[in-house]
Amino acid sequence: MLYGLDIGGTKIELAAFNEKLEKQYSERIETPKDSYQSWLNAIVQLVQRADEKFGCQGSVGLGVPGFVNRETGLAEITNIRVADNQPILTDLAALLGREVRAENDANCFALSEAWDSENQQYPFVLGLILGTGFGGGLVFNGKVHSGKVGMAGELGHLQLNYHALKLLGWDKAPIFPCGCGNQACLDTYLSGRGFEMLYQALKGESLTAKQIIENFYAGEQTAVEFVELFVEFSAISIGNIITALDPHLIVLGGGLSNFDYLYEALPKALPAHLMRSAKVPLIKKAKYGDSGGVRGAAALFLTK
Ligand SMILES: [Zn+2]
Repeated sequence: MLYGLDIGGTKIELAAFNEKLEKQYSERIETPKDSYQSWLNAIVQLVQRADEKFGCQGSVGLGVPGFVNRETGLAEITNIRVADNQPILTDLAALLGREVRAENDANCFALSEAWDSENQQYPFVLGLILGTGFGGGLVFNGKVHSGKVGMAGELGHLQLNYHALKLLGWDKAPIFPCGCGNQACLDTYLSGRGFEMLYQALKGESLTAKQIIENFYAGEQTAVEFVELFVEFSAISIGNIITALDPHLIVLGGGLSNFDYLYEALPKALPAHLMRSAKVPLIKKAKYGDSGGVRGAAALFLTK
């Protein structure tokens, strides 16, 4: 049995999957916030309950909102204060008597999509999350590529380039500060939140993404202009990522990935931002939604 745990700031979910990644069971608890020890114990108990249910020792993969630094072995998960800067993998492995693996939750999202039966034919799958922020995950032949330290795919902290600034009006371009301490990171533009912040900065009105999209489909002029600009902005930014990575498949997740017009408009806008011989890869909507995190974490123990 493959266990995937989605470790969040408020909830921890364990789901058990068979070798075909079909969900067999799941349980969700509140994330303990009082001490590291109670956080570890809660995870150990979740795993032990699943072991008892299935009469075996399942593999344990974690999806975390951050990453485990491969050089120090310490978790860098600032929004789970009790476990931040702790050697979570060695501690859990000792308590559970088995290897424990962890990956960034965007990498787990991409891994879950890459292991979908229709997508397994693509050697390199790039997952992009347009949610509260912008994140990415890189999967080669069914394995996450997380890099030397473990931060590969942190695409939200790529910064605005020449063409993006030109599109936004040079010195009139809204420059947003990012949670990483830098500014003008894609995280605050190419995301559901960024969509709303940009609309407010450029059009002078505060609307939700849902309202802007409704106005766009109703043909309202301001929304149409804004969406066309946002598509161009996305093509500039994702075009650079395609130039660097040349993926076979891009899967979009997060709230803004439900904006269906993007799947029609992006493939048309992208070629202008790619090298002449480059091809726009297939761009699809994610299939697994909220369960992608646990499914991808479980897939950390699968090999092709
Ligand atoms: Zn940043």
